[in-house]
Amino acid sequence: MGFLNGKLALITGSTSGIGLGIAKALAKEGADLVLNGFGDPNEINQLVISIADEFKVSVTFHGADLSKVEEIEEMMAGFAASRPLDILINNAGIQYVSPVEDFPVARWNAIMNINLNAVFHTTRLAIPHMRRTNWGRIINIASTHGLVASPNKSAYVASKHAVVGFTKSVALETAKTAITANCVCPGWVLTPLVQKQIEDRAVAEGITVEEAKLRLISEKQPSGVPVSVEQLGALVVFLASDAASEVRGAAWNMDGGWVAV
Ligand code: NAD
Repeated sequence: MGFLNGKLALITGSTSGIGLGIAKALAKEGADLVLNGFGDPNEINQLVISIADEFKVSVTFHGADLSKVEEIEEMMAGFAASRPLDILINNAGIQYVSPVEDFPVARWNAIMNINLNAVFHTTRLAIPHMRRTNWGRIINIASTHGLVASPNKSAYVASKHAVVGFTKSVALETAKTAITANCVCPGWVLTPLVQKQIEDRAVAEGITVEEAKLRLISEKQPSGVPVSVEQLGALVVFLASDAASEVRGAAWNMDGGWVAV
């Protein structure tokens, strides 16, 4: 039993990393879950069973590919009027690193589709549910790259800045209701999304993976310490709480001091 008992949450990209951490944090507070993302079907099935068992909540899975509008629409149509969606966590995201003049067009489009366009589609389809119950939480996992830039990440930085702006508009459109929309802007979190960047750097600089990890984190985060998925889960739980009912349109960084520099 927790304060989210009876609420229904969709967490996109929750088969891994930050999304999975957020899903568990919401389940711990009693929320029923719809998970989404890619992965081995047996492992996903095990995940569904283990979260339901550990937190005594209902857990289902929808494998919508968020780069495809029709699959998002199909997933969102699954929320019945009798069991509306209360909490939408737009978390799925991808990265690609390249100088802008060499950036593959297909990679640019894929990043925009998943990191930005999917956020628009899930949001436009979730708000009618939330307006009916006059309660809702839309929490978009942006990034420090929604607030500041880094070289060679033009698509990612553009998509995350756009998500921050989009979220502010949604927050204004819902400001007179009990629906809130906010972003969370994490710094480095050691998930599969970052692992490839660490490995590429180790090769490029001829150093160990451990050294590459330290360099990657320390050059951006003054603390030198990565953010954990549990810490991000706790921030999302706070944003879903009544205490956060007047947090609207925020882009809340949790980043070891990255954007304070
Ligand atoms: P991750 O790679 O561990 O997880 C990404 C999730 O998205 C997975 O569940 C994956 O299956 C899913 N996904 C990818 N493409 C999809 C698609 N087309 N349709 C449906 N699901 C899809 O990544 P993560 O590090 O946990 O990142 C989660 C979010 O946090 C992303 O939006 C990312 O940009 C953001 N973020 C991550 C970091 C970091 O340091 N890891 C920092 C700031 C922001």
